Amino acid sequence: MKPARLRAVFDKTHGHCHFCGDELVFEHYHDGAWELDHVIQRKKGGASDPDNYLPACKECNHLRWHRKGEDLREVIFLGLIAKTEITAGTKLGREIAAKRKQRLDQNERRRAK
Ligand SMILES: [Zn+2]
Repeated sequence: MKPARLRAVFDKTHGHCHFCGDELVFEHYHDGAWELDHVIQRKKGGASDPDNYLPACKECNHLRWHRKGEDLREVIFLGLIAKTEITAGTKLGREIAAKRKQRLDQNERRRAK
């Protein structure tokens, strides 16, 4: 994408991830630190155009996958429940924390290949 068009997307959120609000660095787009998130998915007819993009940090964009709307809210809500359990140190919280670590380790091994 041409820099002016990339800048138009970046400026929509004043250079912040539209999910988490973290500040993005415009120049780091080409390093993969932030990405263009389709507002309307391409497979649902969304255009590959700045009007249909919002900036997102790589971490948020990759966790979200294809989720939108109610599905995404459900994931966030479940995350809040899990975080509360982990913080309280309940048995369930410890199990979720162990599962989280297991998933992160699996991801790490997959990336190392
Ligand atoms: Zn983010």
